Amino acid sequence: MTIRVLVVLLSLMVYTNSMAQEKENHKIVTKAELKKALTPTQYFVTQEKGTERPFTGEYWKHSEAGTYHCVCCNTELFKSNTKFESSCGWPSFFDSDFIDNIKLVPDKSHGMIRTEVLCNNCDAHLGHVFNDGPKPTGIRYCINSASLKFEKPKKVGN
Ligand SMILES: [Zn+2]
Repeated sequence: MTIRVLVVLLSLMVYTNSMAQEKENHKIVTKAELKKALTPTQYFVTQEKGTERPFTGEYWKHSEAGTYHCVCCNTELFKSNTKFESSCGWPSFFDSDFIDNIKLVPDKSHGMIRTEVLCNNCDAHLGHVFNDGPKPTGIRYCINSASLKFEKPKKVGN
């Protein structure tokens, strides 16, 4: 009797464990898949916390209306109405409409104390956030173009 209970318990533990693993696998695209899907710059920036050279990215001067998504997992990150023209050479935003999709962590690399901005879904490195932005927030999200994928608003009807 006790052995049977033990077997049931054990198989339950194995089952829940495999469920947890499956959930984890669905959440994040693997590094190997990303390496195939992304350009070398996109991979370097998002997976190795790199920084693209200023004034070289696709979106620093981009001003079309639409939404900027994570290049790795397609999560919505910023809307164009919070983008502003900054002289820094990277896409800059003073706010995010998708604050739950963004993760901020302290970054002490390169001898500086900064705040790193990450995709909250897949942990892709996006850029850094600074306190020298315009009103009303005074915040500047300084984001690499290589971490972003722009999408125009979907047409309603046809
Ligand atoms: Zn992501």
